[in-house]
Amino acid sequence: MAFELPQLPYPKDALEPHTSVRTLEFHHDKHHAAYVTNLNNLVKDSPMASQSLEDLIKATAKDDSRAAIFNNAAQVWNHTFFWRCMKPNGGGQPAGDIAAAISQSFGGYDKFKEEFKAACVGQFGSGWGWLVADGTTMKVTKTPNAVNPLSLGQTALLTCDVWEHAYYLDYQNRRPDFVETFLGHLVNWDFVAANLRKVR
Ligand code: FE
Repeated sequence: MAFELPQLPYPKDALEPHTSVRTLEFHHDKHHAAYVTNLNNLVKDSPMASQSLEDLIKATAKDDSRAAIFNNAAQVWNHTFFWRCMKPNGGGQPAGDIAAAISQSFGGYDKFKEEFKAACVGQFGSGWGWLVADGTTMKVTKTPNAVNPLSLGQTALLTCDVWEHAYYLDYQNRRPDFVETFLGHLVNWDFVAANLRKVR
């Protein structure tokens, strides 16, 4: 069965004014869709077409001869995950278990925020900022291009897409403002908490 473009988990105007309808039209309907189309073309008539996306990513992560498959598969996964990391009226300080886990790993929300923002802003060129579970601790990481925690043996808890296509229409070159808005108004902490519960 071919890989499919999942629907956004909210209407396209749900994240206004922080992420515009126009950004989601391009980012989901064009960019994310193109990764799905490219991936399907690359694995057509191969046993890889019937693998799970996760298995395909792990199997191709360290194989340079299948870099195009890895890049498109990982970008399909990363975007599907990214959409779920956001919700209308999200962001700000989390509560409950995730707040406790952040205090334990970073010494408080403000320190986490500083580290996450630095990772997102400091990723040179295209890539992703992440909060991951790595063994018994949580870490902030950044990855270039399509690379994701799944391909590095870590569990993704939260991500921010810092490819220019994620923010340029709304924020132009102001990536720090986009990341600040993501943390302040968009993060779906319920999703992050659910991801953490799966590994704890
Ligand atoms: Fe993107």
